[in-house]
Amino acid sequence: METKYIFVTGGVVSSLGKGIISSSLARLLLSRGYSVTIQKFDPYINIDPGTLNPYEHGECYVTVDGHEADLDLGHYERFTNIQTTRANNVTTGRIYQSVIDKERRGDYLGKTVQIIPHITDEIKRNVKSLGNTGKFDFVITEIGGTVGDIESTPFLEAVRQLKWELGKNALSLHLTYVPYLKAAKELKTKPTQHSVKQLQAIGIQPDILVLRTEKDIPLSMRRKVAQFCNVAPEAVIQSIDASTIYKVPTMMHEQHLDDLVLKFTGTESKGEPNHSAWNEFLRKLDSAEKVVTIGLVGKYVELQDAYKSINESLMQAATYCDHKLNLVYIHSEKLDDKNVDEKLSGMDGVVIAPGFGQRGIEGKFVALKWCREHDMPTFGICLGMQCMVIEYARNVLGLVDANSTEMDPHTAHNVIDLMEEQKSISNMGGTMRLGAYECRLKKGSIPAEAYGCELIKERHRHRFEFNEDYRERFEEAGLKCVGENPGTGLVEVVQVPQLTWYVGTQYHPEYQSTVLNPNPLFISFIKAAIANSDNKNQ
Ligand code: GLN
Repeated sequence: METKYIFVTGGVVSSLGKGIISSSLARLLLSRGYSVTIQKFDPYINIDPGTLNPYEHGECYVTVDGHEADLDLGHYERFTNIQTTRANNVTTGRIYQSVIDKERRGDYLGKTVQIIPHITDEIKRNVKSLGNTGKFDFVITEIGGTVGDIESTPFLEAVRQLKWELGKNALSLHLTYVPYLKAAKELKTKPTQHSVKQLQAIGIQPDILVLRTEKDIPLSMRRKVAQFCNVAPEAVIQSIDASTIYKVPTMMHEQHLDDLVLKFTGTESKGEPNHSAWNEFLRKLDSAEKVVTIGLVGKYVELQDAYKSINESLMQAATYCDHKLNLVYIHSEKLDDKNVDEKLSGMDGVVIAPGFGQRGIEGKFVALKWCREHDMPTFGICLGMQCMVIEYARNVLGLVDANSTEMDPHTAHNVIDLMEEQKSISNMGGTMRLGAYECRLKKGSIPAEAYGCELIKERHRHRFEFNEDYRERFEEAGLKCVGENPGTGLVEVVQVPQLTWYVGTQYHPEYQSTVLNPNPLFISFIKAAIANSDNKNQ
């Protein structure tokens, strides 16, 4: 079939969950047997979000091909179970960079380079590049930001042109907000009407409206919206707050979002979707009664999006182990020898978060020492793994000033050091060790048992690494290197086998955990945490 393009825009306010609606629609179309991909256009000038502070934009997600991406790509993968790549996330910066490079090469043959048509053509080329691979029946394109933003104007102009050029093969879905005014006890549709008017003024007539709301929107009100906005009444759908984002596909299906998309794009239906595996996950999520409590030690604890993929991976693993996840954020900056016992003793397992820089690092060492001495199931991820190594060096090997050269460039014991290939790099953007690399696991180690195989591939995002010079001393003292890159020998996984579950990974297993395919190492960790909880309760 010809590729169909679905454009998802948002209005009224940001953070309405365009990513979740796009992912849910993709899930429904996949369950009906179509091939689908989702891409996101971000209207900021950064080339990618890799240089953004998590306070600005939440977690930075990493694709298999080593692209530092918007966290929505994590949702896309968790919902669809299909890997994304660099082509799935494009920013204004990338578009301009490409146009400026072409201009310098002389590609525009003396023409004045302008937003229309040059920038919009470049956007259109990027929108269509995934469709042109011939691999996808549907390409869902999410436009970041809110209609009316100056930044998103060129993207919306490109959508307008594409809708015109693609005819029935293109569809516009607009997500808006219907606020509930407590004092008046009323839902208000005026902001939605205004937002649709704004979209129409740009030349885009939405085909489907999804209204985000906290309260049920009566049918009569949805009809009114339809009438004001030139949209078919059945194509005004509500997205009411759900207990979990993973219920949104079902909610959308109940209102026939997938049927509408097939109908509007003239796509023949292949029959009802098969949701059995997804529904089984939801059933487990709803029926779990026992609780597993995991402490996440990090420095961005006030920011729920900063560790998004870790949260979701833990939740997926807990669900598959028939437990509810109780995730407790522990601020590493506020952790010290005096309060660590009080903060950690109620946990069943502890995760030491990834990160960059000095802030909050000492708290991570305090947590790790306590976890090691109390045989707490402990999972160190990236910087968390590096901290595991440093703490072990300081307190077991007796190298009191051991450190990473990231924190102390002049440390006498650089047990974590800048990677050789990084030493000549001065640019910050896109230059870390990024993307999926192979890792060979040691037979009998926890990770080898968890994955059920010895050669795995996981994603990375770091500049520093375990210093090979200290390997023997660590191994002798009980911290084993149980995973390494088959080509370079870089140490990717450490474990203290004397402890029940004490594992650190240089890679980020959270980037590859999806609802239908949860990451085995998280499952193994959660199982250890549950066993720990059961032991305590006996
Ligand atoms: N800051 C560390 C490094 O660059 C760890 C990075 C991370 O946790 N993602 O190696």
